[in-house]
Amino acid sequence: MSELRRNPITKGWVIIAPERAKRPDQLQKHMDQEIDSNLEAEGTSACPFCPGNEESCGEAVLTYYGDNRGGRGEPNWSLRVVPNKYPALVGGGEVMRRAEGAGDLFMHMDGKGYHEVVIEHPDHLQTIATMPAEAVEGVLASYVERYGVLIERPEVELVTIFRNNGPGAGTSIRHPHSQIIASPIVPMNFRHVIEETVRYYDTMGTCVYCDMIAKERMLDRRVVSETEHFMVIMPFFSRSPFETWILPKAHRASVAGIPEAEVKDLARVLIDVLGRLYRGLDNPDYNYMIQCAPYQEDPADYYHWHIQILPKCYEVAGFELGSGIYLNTTSPEECARFLRET
Ligand SMILES: [Zn+2]
Ligand SMILES: [Zn+2]
Repeated sequence: MSELRRNPITKGWVIIAPERAKRPDQLQKHMDQEIDSNLEAEGTSACPFCPGNEESCGEAVLTYYGDNRGGRGEPNWSLRVVPNKYPALVGGGEVMRRAEGAGDLFMHMDGKGYHEVVIEHPDHLQTIATMPAEAVEGVLASYVERYGVLIERPEVELVTIFRNNGPGAGTSIRHPHSQIIASPIVPMNFRHVIEETVRYYDTMGTCVYCDMIAKERMLDRRVVSETEHFMVIMPFFSRSPFETWILPKAHRASVAGIPEAEVKDLARVLIDVLGRLYRGLDNPDYNYMIQCAPYQEDPADYYHWHIQILPKCYEVAGFELGSGIYLNTTSPEECARFLRET
């Protein structure tokens, strides 16, 4: 089992999960962080996520069925959510902090939690940018459904939904998939965000994200697109080129209870934005993260769920690691203009 360890200097937590990786001497750049790289394949019988290989993933916790793959003798699923075979956190249940040696300098606890993979589509070569809208609606619906289940478990503090696209973004499995990790702690950087959004709410009486939406619309310098329910912007404080945020106009602290009309709109927004990046930057590697308030903060007036997309046009290097200051060589205004016209 993996282990959570706390840095006594920053109070930040790390997960030590040796079984997910190779031996130290086998570590390489672009190592597959998710599953044995021997299984990587271009849509052949070796891909664990392709139809026909369901048994290699263990029992699904959620399956959606479509009717577009009948007659080929393959299982008729359109989406499956399965436990990650090499989980960062596993097993759930109560977690107890313990100290290594006397005193409480080195605190650690069992790596309990949940780690799931959303196999987004039966077709090995699809990606969100090229999927039909109904398929992406299914992906988003599965996020909302699994979020609702996991966040209700008493030991879960935070549910992180994310997608790594391409080897530069942390995966070598081509088959379209995203991941969900439910963790028993709220990490320090998230706690800081919560504290600052609370402070903003106390001072201004409004949500900082709602205010950002209004301000970006008024300035109209970093807006990529706007629909009935969502606003797509490049943030004023973008960390790297083409950092893109999808902000829902309706104030909600998490995706829990998001109405179907918004899911449908979001599917189209996500396809549009990722399609623009796909065309404009030639199918870049990227990560996207769905940011929801930690459990105890929901419902909250001050936190506003949203999606952050970070294309990998940029390597975090010594200065960022040493100072915590990001050095972005392209202005978000320029990137927004480019993407709007793509
Ligand atoms: Zn596959
Ligand atoms: Zn808000």
